Amino acid sequence: MQFTDLDIIRPIQKALKEEGYIKPTPIQSKSITPLLEGRDLLGCAQTGTGKTAAFAIPIIQQIYNDKKSLKGKRTIKAVILAPTRELAIQIEENFVAYARHTNIKSLVIFGGVSQNPQVKALKEGVDILIATPGRMLDLYNQKFLKLNDVKHFVLDEADSMLDMGMIHDVKRIISHLPKVRQNIFFSATMPKEISKLADSIFKNPVKVEV
Ligand code: AMP
Repeated sequence: MQFTDLDIIRPIQKALKEEGYIKPTPIQSKSITPLLEGRDLLGCAQTGTGKTAAFAIPIIQQIYNDKKSLKGKRTIKAVILAPTRELAIQIEENFVAYARHTNIKSLVIFGGVSQNPQVKALKEGVDILIATPGRMLDLYNQKFLKLNDVKHFVLDEADSMLDMGMIHDVKRIISHLPKVRQNIFFSATMPKEISKLADSIFKNPVKVEV
């Protein structure tokens, strides 16, 4: 199977070609179609498997196809949570690359640095927010984040978040999201706490393992 066999829109196909991607990895070929249909997904996959593109491509495409949502002021339509700054930055780089032929804008926010440039960028408007949980909650509590239009939520490396004691912040963030949304979890292992959280918020999820 090749990317051109999947139902992916031209602007993304073009970007993938420029990235040198020809064949989807196993996690991508199992995840992209159900995610494009708006399904929830619980994925067991490690870094290096291509899991970022597996969720980034369908999110960009769904936002792109929802033309109405791209009119007027930009609002956050997808939230991706990652446990570390390094991973959050990498994820954002992927979104920027795959969305480069669309008008979709992403932003990464993380702790340990001044919040001012992040607040300024948020005020200018973004479609996709990639964040570490602590900083996201912090900015939300200061009322710098509007989450009413969020339709896609990703928890990446969920097991690391649990290990790093971030699960409480993650649950708080989830409680501030609109109830109707697509949920996507990726985790290298599936500890009870993560599958319990998934069970409590997922609707008929697709389960994918590689
Ligand atoms: P990830 O597991 O998402 O961190 O991706 C690992 C690496 O594989 C990244 O450098 C991606 O750019 C690259 N990659 C992801 N999908 C593909 C693909 N289908 N073909 C070639 N490279 C890919």
